[in-house]
Amino acid sequence: MALLQQVDERNLMEIGQELHQFASELYPICRSITGDGIRETLARIGKRIPLQISEVPSGTQVFDWTVPKEWNIRDAHIKDSTGKRVVNFQQSSLHVMNYSTPVRARMSLSELRPHLFTLPEQPDLIPYRTSYYKPDWGFCLSHNQMLSLTDREYEVCIDSTLDDGYLTYGEFCVSGRNSEEVLISVHACHPSLANDNLSGLAVATFLAKLLIGRELRYSYRFLFIPGTIGAIAWLARNREKANRIRHGLVLTCIGDEGGFHYKKSRRGDAEIDRAAAHVLRHCGEASEILDFSPYGYDERQYCSPGFNLPVGCLMRSVWGTFPEYHTSADDLKFIHPQQLAGSLRACASILDVLEGNRKYCNQNPYCEPQLGKRDLYRSTGGQTIGAEINARLWVLNYSDGEHSLLDIAERSGLPFSMIYDAAELLKQSGLLGVATGSSGAESGSR
Ligand SMILES: [Zn+2]
Repeated sequence: MALLQQVDERNLMEIGQELHQFASELYPICRSITGDGIRETLARIGKRIPLQISEVPSGTQVFDWTVPKEWNIRDAHIKDSTGKRVVNFQQSSLHVMNYSTPVRARMSLSELRPHLFTLPEQPDLIPYRTSYYKPDWGFCLSHNQMLSLTDREYEVCIDSTLDDGYLTYGEFCVSGRNSEEVLISVHACHPSLANDNLSGLAVATFLAKLLIGRELRYSYRFLFIPGTIGAIAWLARNREKANRIRHGLVLTCIGDEGGFHYKKSRRGDAEIDRAAAHVLRHCGEASEILDFSPYGYDERQYCSPGFNLPVGCLMRSVWGTFPEYHTSADDLKFIHPQQLAGSLRACASILDVLEGNRKYCNQNPYCEPQLGKRDLYRSTGGQTIGAEINARLWVLNYSDGEHSLLDIAERSGLPFSMIYDAAELLKQSGLLGVATGSSGAESGSR
């Protein structure tokens, strides 16, 4: 049974609500690229799928980067002269600049000002700011909130620690018949941000769960990692394993109401690029294909020239282009059950293409085989043939050992699932054989 079928056997809204519920559970946690927030997030993912946790010590050199000190935070606030918390970390994890050094001081508003970050253009939203590699501290607040600060003096507290510790990431691995791997990578380092972070985490977790206990062609590796430094650390520590990656997807921003965007791998014509484009063309939602660019999420690392892995990035709205991006408006209301479920369907369909795509040889290539006597054609002549019969003719004609099922799906304009089903039927009737000497030969085991 195809993965998509496994998703569609259940009520889609129900799956969407479960995805949203999982995002809601993770939302309040103050994540960062290191520390207990990402550990707690991985622990909750680990309750749903078996996760291997790795801890990389601070100071470890990973290519050109160094794993930073571990950051943890208990509390933070700005109190006015009456002792009232006018900015309170307990209300939003975005209120503190991520990786802020500890502070405990009384200071004038003019001294405090350079440490306050707002969005004057979006005066009601709290921005998301980080300072991972430059020691600094700061508070993020809405511009209107800042304008209401009129006292002369404030009490400032950031109860954080920056110590030698670890960078933590989680891996879910499942073995297939083949040791070649499909990589699914999601970042898990943003605090209370729903689309940019939690949508990818939720969809990846549910996608991983679908693979458990299945007979698979490829082996799968899911990485739940801090952005940038996490992908760099994984690649630096796993160069051998990286060589096994045949197809990969970075998932981010896949819960909002926008249509799909797929950013191609650096190679641009990898099988994952074609599989994603094909699935999106047939998924019934708006979609757009984008060329590779060296800015974005962790596809930047996987597609760095030394690795040049076939890894693309699946999104709905493109990061950096929607007004809610990296602000408090990227909250649980910004992501929706229906879109989360739709993204899970798209991912399942893409994996179905990767699992099912191979080359065959028509065993009866001299003129068309007589499908009618094999019960593979309609019994009475008519004006049009059905799409299923059309798919059989496409598969028979192009199964010359050169064209894969994805090639045939692209040429015919028919969805891959229909081409795949036609090939299965023709195989059973002895009309198709697995092409030898091609990557399709692996498909011999059924
Ligand atoms: Zn981000």
